[in-house]
Amino acid sequence: MSEGAAKKEERRKFQAIKGTRDLLPPETALWNRVERIAQEVFTSYGFGEIRLPIFEQTDLFARSIGAETDVVSKEMYTFEEKATELPSPRPFFTPRGYTPALEEAFQANPGFNTPENRRRLALLKDHLSTLEQAEVRRDAKASSAAYDHYVAVLETILQGDRVSLRPEATASVCRAYIEHNMQQLPQPVKLYTIGPMFRRERPQKGRYRQFYQIDAEVLGGSDAPGIDAELIEMVMTLFKRLGLEGVELDINSIGDKQCRPKYVELLRAELRKVKDKLGPDSQRRIETNPLRVLDSKLENEQKLIGGMPHIADHLCEECAENYRGVKKELELRGVKYRENWRLVRGLDYYSRTTFEITAKGLGSQNAVCGGGRYDGLMELLGGPPTRATGFAIGEDRLILSLQEAGKRPAAKGRDVYIAWMGEKAYTKAVQAAKNLRAAGFSVELPPVEQKFGKALGQADKLGARYALILGDNEVASGEWTLKTLATGEQAKFTEPTLLDFLQENNAV
Ligand code: ATP
Ligand code: MG
Repeated sequence: MSEGAAKKEERRKFQAIKGTRDLLPPETALWNRVERIAQEVFTSYGFGEIRLPIFEQTDLFARSIGAETDVVSKEMYTFEEKATELPSPRPFFTPRGYTPALEEAFQANPGFNTPENRRRLALLKDHLSTLEQAEVRRDAKASSAAYDHYVAVLETILQGDRVSLRPEATASVCRAYIEHNMQQLPQPVKLYTIGPMFRRERPQKGRYRQFYQIDAEVLGGSDAPGIDAELIEMVMTLFKRLGLEGVELDINSIGDKQCRPKYVELLRAELRKVKDKLGPDSQRRIETNPLRVLDSKLENEQKLIGGMPHIADHLCEECAENYRGVKKELELRGVKYRENWRLVRGLDYYSRTTFEITAKGLGSQNAVCGGGRYDGLMELLGGPPTRATGFAIGEDRLILSLQEAGKRPAAKGRDVYIAWMGEKAYTKAVQAAKNLRAAGFSVELPPVEQKFGKALGQADKLGARYALILGDNEVASGEWTLKTLATGEQAKFTEPTLLDFLQENNAV
């Protein structure tokens, strides 16, 4: 590298990675408000918060979301848990010497201390003990077989597990439900979680690679339509309290494992008849996942898709009854909905009610919430058969829509700026700042002395409501001057009367 190039490299400015962004004040005040109100609303419906890890075993997502989906096959951030921190078995090792060293390394390395690895370690111990017994018996064949078994398991450990940044929260919530035996709690268990998700998608308005979801799940219990309806009522209540505009709720039922396969076959047969007129994506999906064809946004496919059979006409009696029940329960709760027969979920574990909520000001990325019932997922993840339903709100889009509608929180300036001069005044100022903050006011205390003129200018720039003026005169007389910056009015207060005045005139 030339010297010039090296200098340039040194001065290189770092930028946030494509598809990620910084959320800054005052915008973060809106994020906090949204999350606080979500917590209030969800708590009023009996939900508790769950905080989850941001990465999980890749297999968890492959199994739940589906290995063939775009999310899992192309969009996940996946890396290997490096096995280099484990003691190397090369060049020489004996299972007897190596096993305790490995166990110690697992304990020192939380990343390796997974249930899967603990299971493998137990296997290693089994093979070791078989090996030792074979040696005692001088059974060369058995000991060599045990050795081979040992090495095979060891290899899977040394390869390390693949882990991925989570692209959604449902899989982790179900994993946690199973891991913590939550089926033993009173059912259903109602959980919500808020946090970042990661998908390597093409960034555009309302679509990021790190985005945030507000997620709620109802796990266990029955498939009573009231559960789905209450969940939908809850998210609609949240949107109403936030003042979200142009909210539209679409619902559908996609049947269950009894009736859906028949409909899917019928749909596939009908789609095959018009295959030549469809684009390459839809053509492929006819074979892989015909329901997804209904999702198509391509202009020239709309008319053809419009003529396809509706799933509502092919539900089994139980599913049809359940769907009627959900609609009745929504009406009971005054929740307005639109039936959209093309609203589907492409994954097998989904069943019955699905819904999507759109809002204003978001262009083509206008879905702020997607949800539905997924009675089959828990079993797929090795848990007991468990009914479940939930939703995920795209928080970035929710915030974007609120901002487009002009719902920015007023940038809140400081309540009080302390303009002090002189050492004695400083001592008082430090104490006053502490007391005012303890009373809930936002206070700015300049760390170095400023001329009063400059201090007042600074107070103005920070949007402070009051300047508290503390100079030698004020300290000597015990009467402090408070200036209201908007009007220029000044008044004198003793320390206790100042606090009374602020509390009366400034709701904290
Ligand atoms: P879309 O059809 O918009 O891609 P999706 O079906 O992939 O959404 P879900 O997996 O159901 O979305 O996630 C629920 C919500 O999360 C979406 O309705 C959306 O608001 C939000 N969301 C999904 N992907 C992104 C992303 N890349 N950036 C921002 N928000 C997202
Ligand atoms: Mg998507």
